[in-house]
Amino acid sequence: MELNNNDETKPAILEIRNLKKNFGTKQALDDVSFSVERGSIMGLLGPNGAGKTTLLRIINGIMVSDSGEALIDGMPASFETSPRIGYMPEERGLYDKMRVEDQIMYFGQLKGGDKKRLTEVMNEYLELFNLTPDRRRRVKELSKGNQQKVQIISTLVHEPELVILDEPFSGFDPINGQLLQTLIERLHDRGTTIMLSSHNMPAIEDMCSDIALINNGKLLVKDSIENVKEAWKDDSLILTTKTPLQIPALLDSGALKEISPTKPLKGRKGYAYKARKEEGKKNMDILDAVAMQSDILHFEEALPSLTDIFLGYTKGER
Ligand code: ATP
Repeated sequence: MELNNNDETKPAILEIRNLKKNFGTKQALDDVSFSVERGSIMGLLGPNGAGKTTLLRIINGIMVSDSGEALIDGMPASFETSPRIGYMPEERGLYDKMRVEDQIMYFGQLKGGDKKRLTEVMNEYLELFNLTPDRRRRVKELSKGNQQKVQIISTLVHEPELVILDEPFSGFDPINGQLLQTLIERLHDRGTTIMLSSHNMPAIEDMCSDIALINNGKLLVKDSIENVKEAWKDDSLILTTKTPLQIPALLDSGALKEISPTKPLKGRKGYAYKARKEEGKKNMDILDAVAMQSDILHFEEALPSLTDIFLGYTKGER
């Protein structure tokens, strides 16, 4: 069992132990184990059909595993643990004819929320999402994006400790996507643990501290984004110089094995290059060789994007 870094006396907010689930001959989950630290933002990644929804349904007590367990704060996932979680599934489920505020209160009370507190929290979220003028409208009269907001508020109104959002950005324009991102950061600041399942790699990369990647029902990795990037980084560099470089002379210097022009980094003037170090060379050797030719405006070790890492793992490169 992994130790919880925040508080070693408390169990992890979520612990998945050896979960298995078959549908006929299809192994949707094949011995999946990992834990989620209290207060973290974790991205659950995996190609279509990897087993993410199956895992989330088991965590939420909607589906029963064949073996293994999902523990919420040390207790097996069940009806009793359900109020501690706010789960927004990918397939949305609102009652079309209900009014917005009745809908939100209904879901909050289903999770055992106190009416007075639910009303306060609902009002706060309606305001945040600019939905106050629509609170008495029926759900079916709202735009798709606004229905999505109602779905999110319904998920959060009972102030769960663990929030699980499946593809929360789908259906949102960039303004509402930004609003949701702000909301997630606010929840995080208040100590809520958040699990995001999404195919939107830039959003995951931007918001999450950790990722878990599932493929064909198997957990391929669960680690911090920093550690995963460190593990996948090669000896690539990005550098920008004030004047163009003489590439043959640089290759002759023996510090670099490859160097070629690349598109400039956003907002940065100068001449950008992608390069790879020669074996055994240090960053200082490269800087020395380049500085012989031009002023260096920017230099960094290139890290792979989450998309590169996702593709690398799922193609079986590790
Ligand atoms: P996506 O990203 O497309 O939503 P996912 O990672 O959520 O995919 P799951 O929905 O968990 O994947 O499905 C995992 C596997 O289990 C798939 O092969 C799917 O067809 C199968 N599966 C899921 N639910 C059922 C079910 N109720 N009956 C039969 N097979 C199922």
